[in-house]
Amino acid sequence: MRTLIVAGNWKMNTSLDEATRLASDVRSKISAVDNVERILIPPFPWIIPVGEVIAGSGITVGAQNCYSEPSGAFTGEVAAEMLSPHCSHVVVGHSERRHVFGETDEEVAGKVKAVLRSGAGVILCVGETLAERDSGSAQDVVRVQLSRGLEGATDDEMDRVVVAYEPVWAIGTGKAASVDDAQEMAHFVRLTIAERFGQTIANGLRIQYGGSVKSENAHSFMLCPDVDGALVGGASLDSDEFAAIVNAAAGESN
Ligand code: PEP
Repeated sequence: MRTLIVAGNWKMNTSLDEATRLASDVRSKISAVDNVERILIPPFPWIIPVGEVIAGSGITVGAQNCYSEPSGAFTGEVAAEMLSPHCSHVVVGHSERRHVFGETDEEVAGKVKAVLRSGAGVILCVGETLAERDSGSAQDVVRVQLSRGLEGATDDEMDRVVVAYEPVWAIGTGKAASVDDAQEMAHFVRLTIAERFGQTIANGLRIQYGGSVKSENAHSFMLCPDVDGALVGGASLDSDEFAAIVNAAAGESN
């Protein structure tokens, strides 16, 4: 039985006041949901204040990115070891990191290793562009992102890995993938993980769908047998929307 996992990626949004108010509203609306893992992922400077607001609620804080090295002359970067005392998870390889900042699969792999070394969980994002989908190479792209991204991960560490399938064309566009496409790719992710790590680890892997998830479509994604939750961007900035998505997951966990 995989516990569903819903994470809200706030991206580079919210003032400090907005962040603590949003965390407090989310806390009051979903702290009673105990059958879904719930994570708020604010910008770096709000990790500690948001963590204070949700302390003791069962909701955890995550980070949106990290650097691969543990310390050193890397001005402006943040090590996984600096995040892990405060964060349950670190997102790695988000499409905005890959496509806006040019992050490569090798860099993603280094970050995955760093997060696992730090003791935190990693949410590894994979997903194809529209051109890659249209040319029929979506699965090849995701297979390569998985194999390169998880190059340094050991079998023992895989219980701290979550994969988020996020088709690039669905992120922030309001145009979610169809439920069938999400299920098909989530199943493919599980098969790919089984080839490398074996069926038991693949069966335990949690796979989120991300890309324009909202209250009105969340339930249908949660019904997919290989989809174990959602990585939510825009809708996570609205506490009612985020709570509805968590509740949709909770309804499917019973
Ligand atoms: C995301 O940022 O990971 C995301 C899925 O964004 P949105 O829900 O806004 O499409």
